[in-house]
Order: sequence, then C-alpha cells, then structure tokens
Amino acid sequence: MQNKPISTLMIPGPVEISPEVAKSFAEPIASHVSPKIIEAHGSALEGMRKVWLAGADSQPFVIAGSGTIAMEMAATNTLEPGDTAVVMNSGYFGDRMAKMLVRRGVLVHSVFADEIGGHPSLEKLADILKNHNIRAVFGTHVDTSTGVRLDAQKVAKLAKDAGALSIFDGVCATAGEVFRMEDWEADVYFTASQKALALPPGLALMVVSKSALKRRRGMEVLPPLSLDWLEWLPIMEAYEGRKGSYFSTPPTHLISALNISLSQVLERGIEQVFEDHQSAADLVRAALADMGLTLVPKPGLAANTLSAVYYGDRPQIVQQLKSKGVIIAGGLHPEIKDQYFRIGHMGYSVRDGEDMDRLLSILSGI
Ligand SMILES: *Cc1c(COP(=O)(O)O)cnc(C)c1O
Repeated sequence: MQNKPISTLMIPGPVEISPEVAKSFAEPIASHVSPKIIEAHGSALEGMRKVWLAGADSQPFVIAGSGTIAMEMAATNTLEPGDTAVVMNSGYFGDRMAKMLVRRGVLVHSVFADEIGGHPSLEKLADILKNHNIRAVFGTHVDTSTGVRLDAQKVAKLAKDAGALSIFDGVCATAGEVFRMEDWEADVYFTASQKALALPPGLALMVVSKSALKRRRGMEVLPPLSLDWLEWLPIMEAYEGRKGSYFSTPPTHLISALNISLSQVLERGIEQVFEDHQSAADLVRAALADMGLTLVPKPGLAANTLSAVYYGDRPQIVQQLKSKGVIIAGGLHPEIKDQYFRIGHMGYSVRDGEDMDRLLSILSGI
C-alpha cells in the first residue's frame, strides 16, 4: 500500500503520520482483549511514562477522545464545585479551560499576559497562590492560538510550593517540547493523538501523579462516569499487566498505532526528539525572519512545535503554500484571527527531514 501524500499537512494538528503508523490502520480488526491488542495497549502505557519523563509511580491513561475530552477528564477528576483554581491563560485554549472549570462550579482566577503573545505573569500567580486557597493551577504548555510556550517548570514549582496541583495542557506540546514530569513534579500532563505524537485524531492521553489520583479518591462530587480515573484505573492496570479488561471499548487501531508512534519516538530518543523540534523551529523562524515577518509570541516565548506569524506584507501566504503542496493554517485567536497564520512543525514531519526541507525550500522561494 503506497501512502504518498499529494500534499504535506503542516497545520498545528493533525499533522503528517509515519508510513508505519499509516500502514497499521490496514491491519485486520482485532478484539480489544486479543493478545495483539493487549500487548500494544500495555506497551503503549509503558511508552507514555517514558515519553512524558514521568515517575514509576505515575499513572498513564489513554481513552477514545479528543484534546478537549482530555481537558475535561483532567478538570473533573481534580476539582469539585466550590473549589478555587488558577488558569494561566496564554490564548484560546486557556479560555476554553476556564470555561470548562466554571461549568464544573469551580471559582477561576485567570492570569493573562499583558498583551497577546506575552507570558501570563508568574508574580501574579504567586500572589494569588499566597492569598487564596488554590486547589489547582492550569497552564497550556503551548497555546496553539498564540504559539506561546509557558514556563511549565516554574508554574509547577509555584503550584507545588503552595500545595496546589499543577495541570498542563500538552496538546500542542507533548513529545515535542521539553517536559520533565517527574523532575518538575507536575501532576497532570495531557495531550491528544493528532499533535506531536503524529497519529490521526481520536485519542485523549494523560499521565497523572500519585497526588492527583489521591485528590480524585477524596472527591465527593464525582466526575462523569466515562471520564472517571477510578473507573479506568483497573483497566489501565490490567493492560499494563498484559491482561485484557473492559470498561468501555478502546479504539483498537489507534492504540496499536500509538504503540508504534511511541516506539518510534523512543527509538530516536526523547531528548533527541526535543532537539529535533528545537532545530526545526530555529530553521522555520530564520526563514520567516528572512522574509521580514514577525512572530506573534514575544522574544524568547516562541514554541518549538508551531509558529504563529503576522502576515505582514504576505497576506496570500496560506494560498501560496497550498498551491505548492504545503497546507498551513490561518489564525485562531479571536482578537487577531485575520492578522496572522500558523505553521505546525511537530511530530513525524520534524523527525523525518523531507517535510521540513519541502517547507523551507518553498519559504525561501516565495
Ligand atoms: C488542539 C488543542 C486542543 C484541543 O484538542 P481537540 O482534539 O481539538 O479537542 C486543546 N489544547 C491545545 C493546546 C490544543 O492545541
């Protein structure tokens, strides 16, 4: 089966997938408790811990779903109505997180940057942590609408010192941006399959700390049944122990593909994969600077997984790239939506040189 793309997908997710991942979707359907799926599922959970750089006592979860479902799972398993939380808001997905928490009946303090493309203030966070009983701090590791990368290590530290959980949306970051879950003592790091893990959409994934699980155990207002960590925990434990189990049918083809993708990341080495993303981002930024274009993120804050860039004098750039076979995205942040575009450079595309070469040669020629 040939999987030659007619165009290269370089939006901030979904992104290109490896030929091995693509091929796995043509495998015959298998039972979710067949030896093949049990092995893939168990091995994928082990792989997640390694890619997340999470401790041996952390718990990975993978369920059918989107990034938004992962957000909901993280929120409803850590907070109850009446709790107070902070959202470090660096764009569109911070707004979504806050909205979700408000629906859960949580009192939310949002910390914004002074301007779009800035970093939400760490001093303000420290201040709120000092003056309120904060149960959890949420941050978007990379906000896909602004291309800003949060200083997740500092946020995790401030939260920890104040006795709050730290919960990070890694949907546009995990397996692309440096994140050391164990070293940084972060409590939840979640993602979705279609971003830097380079899989089709359809999986919600997260690794959670012992403290986060403990928080869930002490809850009185329970999360929705289908998102409940405690319903899923025995299932994850069974698969990791190489036994089949059932709570709700896992998306078997995606789980097999996840195992392949994680193995590819680990084969290259997670530190090397972080560096791949750094070099890809450096090259794209240099090409954009040569074109006279300006990034949305302020200096030093630009993510390695995508670039958010003002159109400047190139209002046709999305169409120009499309006509040359590279699909990039328009804006997402409602306040500047029509003023900028976004290029995703994450996952398989940056581990494999071809897509990056294609992008860079087009950028240098237009
Ligand atoms: C894409 C994205 C989401 C939402 O993921 P969906 O799968 O579209 O629900 C959430 N947070 C961030 C940072 C994202 O990039």
